Amino acid sequence: MSYVDEVYDLVVAKNPAQPEFHQAVKEVLESLRVVIEANEEAYRKDALLERLCTPERQILFRVPWVDDKGQVQVNNGFRVQFNSAIGPYKGGLRLHPSVNLGIIKFLGFEQIFKNSLTGLPIGGGKGGSDFDPKGKSDREVMAFCQSFITELYKYIGADTDVPAGDIGTGAREIGYMYGQYKRLTGLYEGVLTGKGLTYGGSLARTEATGYGLLYLTEEMLKCNGRDIKGMTVAVSGSGNVAIYAAQKAQQLGAKVVTVSDSTGWVYDPEGIDVALLKEVKEVKRARLTEYAAARSSAQYHEKKNGEHGVWNVKCDVALPCATQNELDLEDAKALAANGCIAVAEGANMPTTLEATEYLQKNGVLFCPGKAANAGGVATSALEMSQNSERLSWTFEEVDSKLKGIMVNIFHNLDEAAKKYGMAGNYVAGANIAGFLKVAEAMTAQGIV
Ligand code: GLU
Repeated sequence: MSYVDEVYDLVVAKNPAQPEFHQAVKEVLESLRVVIEANEEAYRKDALLERLCTPERQILFRVPWVDDKGQVQVNNGFRVQFNSAIGPYKGGLRLHPSVNLGIIKFLGFEQIFKNSLTGLPIGGGKGGSDFDPKGKSDREVMAFCQSFITELYKYIGADTDVPAGDIGTGAREIGYMYGQYKRLTGLYEGVLTGKGLTYGGSLARTEATGYGLLYLTEEMLKCNGRDIKGMTVAVSGSGNVAIYAAQKAQQLGAKVVTVSDSTGWVYDPEGIDVALLKEVKEVKRARLTEYAAARSSAQYHEKKNGEHGVWNVKCDVALPCATQNELDLEDAKALAANGCIAVAEGANMPTTLEATEYLQKNGVLFCPGKAANAGGVATSALEMSQNSERLSWTFEEVDSKLKGIMVNIFHNLDEAAKKYGMAGNYVAGANIAGFLKVAEAMTAQGIV
């Protein structure tokens, strides 16, 4: 059996009931097959793939907090410090009822390659909790965040592990966590990114994932002889990534016609009103029904069982910006049949393996999240730089660095795909380019 297959089987056997983690590992290992096989003996002797697929450290903890009725609630807390070969662990904290160890491991594993692709010195990590901030009061969210950090503060630090936002963790949660970290340690340091601008945050960090997604998509289309200007774009999700993806797509002259949330989706043939969307989602923290109620051109659709809705709309470009496995084979078929020419992932692993293969086989340009959504974490690394030098850069400075990073990522993965005989396979290109840097650093640092 080849080394790649052996390690995949081992990962499945050693990590039972973690399907998302298996999926993430499978995608990466399949892409690496040619690279590994060219040097199989050395990689096998060093157990490089086993080490790559095993987190350096996993921290699991209890998060007790008191709700507004005086009732004690208990959540599970996680931080997976996956790989520190190229820098301190870096990755977000997801707060969502679906969070479990397998989800955090898939996200942490993806983060290793994503962070490597940015070209910046950041290792891979991820954390979170099954706490659901939805419907909680500010006081309840603060109680949870303070309890979460009271346990986690022992394991993080500006030079060891720097968490940030993800689904359910935004500026409010980062603020409460930062305050508690500072109170416990007495340190005013860049231990978290995505901070508010008055206490060490970076301009353009809020916009970075969505803007970065569009910078990369624009470059991918350009290199394939197409211009995003005038194109119709379908976006899923309505959180931080989706909002700023829609905004940048419009700035680039495209028309965004959809957004979605967990219960429904909106088709707005006139183009999404981003200011209204921000008001509904960022200020009121309300559902998309409120968006539809306030805009006559918008059609609201309830999500029926298993249906993803937005992918049945005719579009040139699809940007899944909601969550994992939200675009399946049926959706991929609908997109291709409707003439979609490009899919770029704003979320982490939103496309199933079968859907990815179908899109690639049917000539749809496909850029995986670990490249396409790397703008968020890249700008987090820029926030770390600013914190270290105790300076703040202008919006234009950060934004132009972000653009340079995204364009660079695309060319790196494009070239890696070509070099290994898989031109146009951006999944393989991203995995190979991300892997090579980490593998070299791991090898140089010995068996650790
Ligand atoms: N959660 C984001 C991601 O998936 C950002 C992580 C960060 O900024 O550290 O990459």
